[in-house]
Amino acid sequence: MPVDDAGFTLEVDRKACAGHGMCYGTRPELIDCDDEGYPVITDPNIGLSTIDSARDAVAVCPERALELVPRSTSHA
Ligand code: SF4
Repeated sequence: MPVDDAGFTLEVDRKACAGHGMCYGTRPELIDCDDEGYPVITDPNIGLSTIDSARDAVAVCPERALELVPRSTSHA
């Protein structure tokens, strides 16, 4: 296991996502956006150095479209 590994993957549910950008507006260091305004997770493998930012992004999404998934059950 890499040193900076929190054991989670940050994933977006494209069906639930409304594309209004609160996640990447809040945490641009973790989430970029595509040409249509939908989020693109820069690096879905969340480390100990980024877990707090990832939790912020999850918390700010009003559609509950972002999820921290334990890597053992990740769909990525
Ligand atoms: S905040 Fe949630 S609904 Fe809005 S773009 Fe980000 S993932 Fe999609």
